[in-house]
Amino acid sequence: MKNVYNFAPGPAMLPRPVMKKAQEEFLDWNGTGMSVMEVSHRSKEFIALAEESEADLRDVLGIPSNYKVLFMQGGATSQFAMVPMNLLQGGKSADYIHTGSWSVKAYKEAQRHGKVRVAATSKEQNYMTIPERSTWQLDKDAAYVYYCSNETIGGVEFQSIPDVGAVPLVADMTSHALSRPIDVSKFGIIIAGSQKNIGPAGLVLVIIREDLIGTESAHLPSLLDYAHMAANESMSNTPPTFSWYIAALVFKWIKAEGGLKAMEQNAIKRSGKLYAAIDASGFYQNPVDKRYRSRMNVTFTLKDANLDGKFLQEAKAAGLEALKGHRSVGGMRASIYNAMPMEGVDALITLMQEFERKHG
Ligand SMILES: *Cc1c(COP(=O)(O)O)cnc(C)c1O
Repeated sequence: MKNVYNFAPGPAMLPRPVMKKAQEEFLDWNGTGMSVMEVSHRSKEFIALAEESEADLRDVLGIPSNYKVLFMQGGATSQFAMVPMNLLQGGKSADYIHTGSWSVKAYKEAQRHGKVRVAATSKEQNYMTIPERSTWQLDKDAAYVYYCSNETIGGVEFQSIPDVGAVPLVADMTSHALSRPIDVSKFGIIIAGSQKNIGPAGLVLVIIREDLIGTESAHLPSLLDYAHMAANESMSNTPPTFSWYIAALVFKWIKAEGGLKAMEQNAIKRSGKLYAAIDASGFYQNPVDKRYRSRMNVTFTLKDANLDGKFLQEAKAAGLEALKGHRSVGGMRASIYNAMPMEGVDALITLMQEFERKHG
């Protein structure tokens, strides 16, 4: 089998031990003689998996007991609509912080469902930084403040949790969930789509403070109603069982590796080494404000954009996949989530240095 390091932003690389375990029990899960994919979500075996996965996630993240964990579908994008549909009832308004593509997209979707304001934006800085907290124009009566804590496309990451007082804070953590310890009690809602750092596509985790769940609405589609989903333990209809199963294995893998502290240490080492290599060269450049550089999505440009194609070609030949940056920003992007071993980053740095020597 070809040895490949996959730098894709998502769906992304998964931990090798998780993939091995899934392979081992692919045809016979838990002694059932069936694949987990073939088992009813209402079977006692799958219910046990669901309960254990939630317990593991609560343990890993330190989720307080007054928060509910929902295993939902529709990707993180569905939450761009669900958050305002559920929280903006009664004509309330919400504040959005624009720091890049994903927070802007969430705002645009929310506009369809209620009253929203932009309380701060780094648009004029090309979304390469985060607006200073002191400049945010927050409405103290807002239903919530929404931000994206790691902008996957620009590679911009909040390094601390913004203080927004008593207004519930809603964070899209899709591309850096489980990469560092966080204080869940500071949030009203945490959103995390699965295919970046949690498992295969198909799931989105919603961690929601109980007082924000409310009561079932007579108007919302039931699958888009947090109260309905919470009352039905995320099993109102058939959940994406295979994605859930892999996510459950990933939670166990994180625990075995030493939890989120270990994930964070590894992320700091990987990204630190890559940014140092970029900064030390006169050939590669990262445009992000150094205070907010992402540990998960490292973007860089080549001195001559005409060499981009050649760089990608040589990278692919060296087994380094999916380094092309998002079409909206160009250049390269190395997504280095929890599953990326240091050897992958080392191989990328070696390739970058050889390429610079040949073409620089
Ligand atoms: C990938 C991503 C999304 C969208 O996820 P989907 O599962 O495609 O809906 C949303 N927010 C962030 C920060 C992302 O990285």
